[in-house]
This record gives sequence, C-alpha cells and structure tokens, in this order.
Amino acid sequence: MLEPAFSSLPAGVPLVGSAILGAIVGSFLGAALERLPSGRSIVSGRSACDGCGKALTVVELVPVLSWLVQAGRCRTCGSRIGGWQLACELGGAGIGVASLPLARDGLALAAMLLGWQLLLLALLDLRHLWLPRLLVGWLAASGLLVAFARARVTDDAGVIGTALAGACWVMQCCG
Ligand SMILES: [Zn+2]
Repeated sequence: MLEPAFSSLPAGVPLVGSAILGAIVGSFLGAALERLPSGRSIVSGRSACDGCGKALTVVELVPVLSWLVQAGRCRTCGSRIGGWQLACELGGAGIGVASLPLARDGLALAAMLLGWQLLLLALLDLRHLWLPRLLVGWLAASGLLVAFARARVTDDAGVIGTALAGACWVMQCCG
C-alpha cells in the first residue's frame, strides 16, 4: 500500500517532487560538507562564494540548475564552484527518486532520510577522511527507530542488526 502522501497525487508528481526535495536536501548537505569539518554552523550564516565572499542570491542557490547555468563558476569572480556541491545535489535527488518504490511498503520517507545521512557521511569520508561520531550515532539511532516503527515487528533481523550497529558505535565512542 502506498504511503498516503504519495498515493493521492497524480502520476509523475511524486517522481518530480522527490527529485526536487532531494536536490534541496542535497544542497543543504553540500553546505554541511563544506562547513562541518571547519566547525562552522550549518544553520546560520548565508551561503557565500569561497573565492570572493559574496553572498549568493536566491537564483544562485537553485540546486543543480544554478551550477549548470553558471558552468560551475561564481558569477561575480569566476572562481570554480567545486563539483562536490553538484554531487551532493544530484546524489540527494537520486536518493529521493530511488526511495519512491519503497512507498508501497510505507518506507519511502524513511529510506530518503537514511539515504541522505549515508550520502553526507560517504562524502565527508571521501573528501575529508572524517566520519563524525555524532552523525554516525544519528544514523544508527535513525535506523533503530525505523526498525522499531515498522509494522512488521517480527523482522527481528533488522532490529538486531541495527542494535548491533548501535552497540558498535557506543564501543567506538568509548574506545
Ligand atoms: Zn566569487
């Protein structure tokens, strides 16, 4: 059975909507990818060009399209905008779309949330060789919540697997 949020929409809307939502989330993940390693806040402070410091306009913040229109360069100073931002936005959109088939099992939103967390962790690891324990902990907690929230509480393997992942995380934090 489709999740109520998707089942009542015309065909095509969930696909486009999940892609747009994913790209927007991916844009936020791109900011997190740049800011978290240097200890900067991811909720305050306007997005700005790393080259000239100019605050980005609303048009320059449109995920994917602004990068393509500007050919990956700042409109003011011409400095390159790294492909990591585009990777985050396309990856976020891809996860949104790829999660849609799970709507039949009522798991699309959960899959998106878990997938976006995994995307950020994977890119943090790739770019900075850094896996923040707090984010890994959030992922483990999210997985555990999803496992327990599912109607099929008999799915012991999911619960046990996530509990083991959580235990490993606690041991890592204490080690
Ligand atoms: Zn610039």
